[in-house]
Amino acid sequence: MKAIRVTETGTAHVLALHSVPVPQPAAGQALVRVHASGVNFIDVYFREGRYKTPLPFTLGQEGAGVVESVADDITEFAPGDAVAWCGSQGSYAEYAVVPAANLIRIPAGITFQQAAAAMLQGMTAHYLAKSTYPLQPGDTALIHAGAGGVGLLLIQIAKLNGARVITTVSTPAKAELARAAGADEIILYTQQDFLAETKRITLNEGVNVVYDSVGKTTFDASLKCLMPRGMMVLFGGSSGAVPPFDLIQLSALGSLYITRPTLASYTRTREELESRASEILHWVADGTLKLRIEHVYPLAEARQAHLDLESRVTTGKLLLIP
Ligand code: NDP
Repeated sequence: MKAIRVTETGTAHVLALHSVPVPQPAAGQALVRVHASGVNFIDVYFREGRYKTPLPFTLGQEGAGVVESVADDITEFAPGDAVAWCGSQGSYAEYAVVPAANLIRIPAGITFQQAAAAMLQGMTAHYLAKSTYPLQPGDTALIHAGAGGVGLLLIQIAKLNGARVITTVSTPAKAELARAAGADEIILYTQQDFLAETKRITLNEGVNVVYDSVGKTTFDASLKCLMPRGMMVLFGGSSGAVPPFDLIQLSALGSLYITRPTLASYTRTREELESRASEILHWVADGTLKLRIEHVYPLAEARQAHLDLESRVTTGKLLLIP
């Protein structure tokens, strides 16, 4: 089968299409024929070596497809089932072995592309807005990278919860998308100082929560956007990792809270995974949540997908089709 393998870590140029044997499911696993694979920033971190895994490996943490075969101990899934998953490495390929514990049945009315687009970024937006800091009417949230894959979904879920949303984007075109997703206030942070703008918009009060996935270039000012006892949710580092910082800042800025969450901790049990995935996929099916699948690349063009994602020209979701 064809697969995008990482044989050495580095820039997008390390990504190459290889011919490898179809993997066989071990105990607890299913073999899935991949119909669509999601591209996510976490794939960049693994490719770069920022997140460690033994080399060589097939990249990709998210996909949707049809079960081809299952290990003897699997009874919940059978060949022919339409499934989606995230959190298991190896989806940039024609076939992937996936732990059955990660698989979710795709409900009626959802295509493979929609399922692959919704799982990782959708469940991330879901836990951020509903569990990490459960947004409520009266809350104001600052969401960075509002036109990104997670960003467009997080804006929509924050609005469903009744919160007021301020978001940052780099271009006027991205501002339009964030507005269409429901953002109340949009800051073009390439032209405006987002800290000063957030203070102005909130009449110097600050926001209840900042959802910051940009990291290195936004972290310090994001902390200053918070009201006393506000919560900093640092959930990514698209601009680079945040260097170590002195906890006394949390006191000086008004008894702030900070967390660095990951999706895995918010889908720890089968019950939690199923309830988040099910809510997201049903919202997609009934139109409550709008997915923006911005670009669909053939599997062989994974390198270009990464170059595009990292150069900040993309919006919404990117998919690879084997
Ligand atoms: P996005 O589609 O949001 O793409 C990243 C965006 O970040 C860019 O489009 C850009 O938006 C902004 N950005 C700002 N500075 C930079 C920079 N120097 N380089 C690249 N991008 C920059 O990606 P995803 O939706 O896939 O992921 C968003 C973030 O969420 C990532 O950091 C990812 O790691 C994190 N994440 C975390 C999870 C968790 O559970 N902790 C799970 C899923 C994702 P603009 O042009 O508007 O500045």
